[in-house]
Amino acid sequence: MKKALVLLLILIIAVSLFMFTGCKNQDEKGKLYVYTESGFPPFEYPSGNDIVGVDIEIAKTIADRLGMELVVKDVNFEAILAALTDDNAIGLAGLTITPDREEEVDFSIPYFEAVQYVVYKEGTLTLDENSMVSGAQLKNKVIGTQSGTTGDIIADEESAEGGLFEGATVKGYDNALIAAQDIGNGCEVVVIDRHTALQIEANNPNLNLKANQIAQLDSESYGIAVKKANKKLLYAINWILQELIEEGKIVEWFNEHSVSPAEEE
Ligand code: GLN
Repeated sequence: MKKALVLLLILIIAVSLFMFTGCKNQDEKGKLYVYTESGFPPFEYPSGNDIVGVDIEIAKTIADRLGMELVVKDVNFEAILAALTDDNAIGLAGLTITPDREEEVDFSIPYFEAVQYVVYKEGTLTLDENSMVSGAQLKNKVIGTQSGTTGDIIADEESAEGGLFEGATVKGYDNALIAAQDIGNGCEVVVIDRHTALQIEANNPNLNLKANQIAQLDSESYGIAVKKANKKLLYAINWILQELIEEGKIVEWFNEHSVSPAEEE
């Protein structure tokens, strides 16, 4: 019974894939627009004139397996979800799947896990026995964030009365690197996802930064966003993502682009 169900699912997906790609002839490939924000290493970051990273490898594979031409659009992080108005547009930007965002777009299956980290000048915060920073240390601090990210939203919520970072002031920047460069001037610490925080610490030895996990916060899952009810593309993406996960490709790409090898998750 289970087998029959799996076979049926495979058939549905195969037909969807065919319908998605089969209507174009070979010389005029359909375009796949991928919206991202390139200040989020190792998932998307500039290299020469290109944008590279784990998400870009995923985007290339999706376009390739769907027989489409990839067009990467580097936009402000806060503009990504609203940009997904067409059937052939996806948001691939280390986007955490959240209930609020799910009201605006549909998400793929999760493809990576993260947790919030704090970036700070060495010696300005202390670590607990698990090498984490307690939320209480961020009370009354000026916290830099990338505007619109989960780090930004959490920092906002937790700085309210009774929150983990009660009394903190949140200052939004275009991306976490710009925020981190402002530590000691416009802000005191930066809250951003684990892998980007570690990348910022490693890539900027002159800034004397450290990055550690904030205790007491939940982990997050990244998904690919598509316009609501764009089921055909969503099924195709889920199919390809599942293949990439099983092939170990995502971890492989992560290890290529990151300073910190992926954990067994
Ligand atoms: N995962 C975080 C979010 O979805 C940060 C993503 C990013 O900065 N590109 O908000």
